[in-house]
Amino acid sequence: MAKYKSLLVPHRWVAAGRARKCYHSPGHQINKGDRVLEVKVQMGWQGYCRPCGQEMIRVATEELSKVANA
Ligand SMILES: [Zn+2]
Repeated sequence: MAKYKSLLVPHRWVAAGRARKCYHSPGHQINKGDRVLEVKVQMGWQGYCRPCGQEMIRVATEELSKVANA
């Protein structure tokens, strides 16, 4: 049987290889070595700081729970 199409966009936790800014808010500083949630976009990956990443996962889980129970 064919694999089901995923409802999720590709994402991954990585350690920041260098200091960078959070894609959600440039005011969120990410330091080298910090955990970064990377979300795949067409040409590459957008990085989010750990608190933003955790909130994005919380919201996504909530949204999936809603449709799962619909
Ligand atoms: Zn952030």
